Amino acid sequence: MKRIPVLAGNWKMNKTPAEAAELARAFAASLGAVTGAEVVLCPPFPALPAVHEAIKGSRLGLGAQNIHWEKSGAFTGEVSAPMLAGWCTHVIIGHSERRQYFGETDGSVYKKIRAALTHNLVPIVCVGETLAEYEAGKTAEVVTRQVRGAYKSFTAEEAARTIIAYEPVWAIGTGKAATGAGANAVIGINARGAIADLFGSAVADGLRVLYGGSVTPANIVEFMAQSDIDGGLVGGASLKVADFEAIVRAAV
Ligand code: PEP
Repeated sequence: MKRIPVLAGNWKMNKTPAEAAELARAFAASLGAVTGAEVVLCPPFPALPAVHEAIKGSRLGLGAQNIHWEKSGAFTGEVSAPMLAGWCTHVIIGHSERRQYFGETDGSVYKKIRAALTHNLVPIVCVGETLAEYEAGKTAEVVTRQVRGAYKSFTAEEAARTIIAYEPVWAIGTGKAATGAGANAVIGINARGAIADLFGSAVADGLRVLYGGSVTPANIVEFMAQSDIDGGLVGGASLKVADFEAIVRAAV
């Protein structure tokens, strides 16, 4: 099945609103008319309005890096899905840095996906094993558990509106990317496989699953050549205009 590639840039905790607007204007100029792929910029919360303005009229999407699952209430420091609806098209959920440093669990990931879907945001759901789990040979078990834990209470129609990003934690920000074949096997057998078990092969075949972890202009071609990889969640390289542009152009 032909799936439209997705290239999402996770800017993490980088860029003031003014800096983010400048970067976004550069991407709007270079990538704003790209067809054949969805390109999504994910700046920090305070930069969302400025980036929204900077990419107006382009084909670029705008993603947040997290949400809370409640609509409103006594959750100091949190941001809800309805606050982002209207600004954002996408939201990253369950990034490993949130799992590692901020207590994100498969249960909270589930509730956040539910909130995103309720407010018409496309959730980019991150899964992936740590280095210790990788070395212990637990990759398949971890990824399957994370996907099943996050998705088990959805309908097939809801699941089909999401995107999964397989990001081995040991590959994020380390310069040590997975191999194309290795990532493809985990994505095909464990991530897409778990979706097929839950919702059937039609939903699994249609779902976009991205690879993330030290993606560069040099290695994106290898990832995009794989049968089960539909794009990339890109961290460090998405902060560099030439690199992210080269990644997107290589992917389409
Ligand atoms: C990420 O932030 O999700 C990521 C994959 O980062 P990097 O590309 O820098 O490894």
